[in-house]
Amino acid sequence: MTPPLLDRLPLPRHAPPPAPMDGALLRIDRLSLAYGQVEVVRGVSLSVAPGQVVCVMGRNGAGKTTLMKGIIGALRARSGRILFDGRDLTSRPSYARARAGIGYVPQGRGIFPQLSVLENLLLGLEPRGGRDDGRLEEVFELFPVLRQMAKRTAGVLSGGQQQQLAIGRALMGRPRLLLLDEPTEGIQPNIVEQIEGVIASLKGHVAVLLVEQFLDFALANADYCCVLESGAVTMEGPPASLEAERLREALAV
Ligand code: ADP
Repeated sequence: MTPPLLDRLPLPRHAPPPAPMDGALLRIDRLSLAYGQVEVVRGVSLSVAPGQVVCVMGRNGAGKTTLMKGIIGALRARSGRILFDGRDLTSRPSYARARAGIGYVPQGRGIFPQLSVLENLLLGLEPRGGRDDGRLEEVFELFPVLRQMAKRTAGVLSGGQQQQLAIGRALMGRPRLLLLDEPTEGIQPNIVEQIEGVIASLKGHVAVLLVEQFLDFALANADYCCVLESGAVTMEGPPASLEAERLREALAV
């Protein structure tokens, strides 16, 4: 019998360094982001503690992906600060943020379809200077289908398999914070369950900042939720504290 996912989780080999004074691993402080003159993230403050799952929700166009881009450094902050493990990363380039321990799975997965599954995974070692340290084996244990498909071209994988590959690749860098932008988008229900299981099993080990439109998925998995409307946080708190009616209204199309 296969052991439960949690038992198969690649655990950190070393004790994580102590959290900063306020307990947050990621702290975003009044961050504003713009495309040209158009500000689409407006004064967002948000914290993620080590091992916590925080979910960002909001309608299409609310600014969720832009917020992710700001955190990884693909978009320069107009104002505000991004602190990671107590270090100010606001003006640091993307690669420095990846090396600091921020992993990113973009919306649409961002895999390289012409490369093999294995080659895609090995690219994920870049933030660690290419060192494997047994990580590939751990990722294969977490996502057995990737082992079976290791030599196949990534482009032939199903949507759910590609999502597993994208998450697996990000985990190859041993991130301390994983940013997941709509991991269940366009995926069959049975694979959604599997991805949900992986996110649940990461809880307590890797901090996750999750963008998710599916309310049930978000509420079941998150320790803390925050709702963006027109680029600003309008609701936030542990899922049980959010008023369901108001939440549905904020997310309604
Ligand atoms: P969400 O992820 O919540 O759907 P986005 O962050 O993708 O929202 O988009 C927020 C706003 O920024 C939208 O109005 C969108 O049209 C705009 N936007 C997104 N990407 C760009 C871009 N590259 N250039 C200009 N505007 C953009």
